[in-house]
Amino acid sequence: MTNPQNSCPACHQELDWDGQYHCSDCQRHYKKIGFCPDCDAELEKLQACGSASYFCNSCNELKSKSRVKFAFETVD
Ligand SMILES: [Zn+2]
Ligand SMILES: [Zn+2]
Repeated sequence: MTNPQNSCPACHQELDWDGQYHCSDCQRHYKKIGFCPDCDAELEKLQACGSASYFCNSCNELKSKSRVKFAFETVD
């Protein structure tokens, strides 16, 4: 298991996926944001051949997904 469970930042219940992350308790949508493990900048998600990579514009390099810190941000 490399992927942590996707849980709601407000109530910690597991999020559904309906095109975005959705908490049925809070009735909110969330997006998953990756942060650089080295400089804490928000990472740019790049889709390549079915697998996602994360690029830090601040470090100017790709970050390994296993080191990326993820957080959920509310979508209006
Ligand atoms: Zn919730
Ligand atoms: Zn960085």
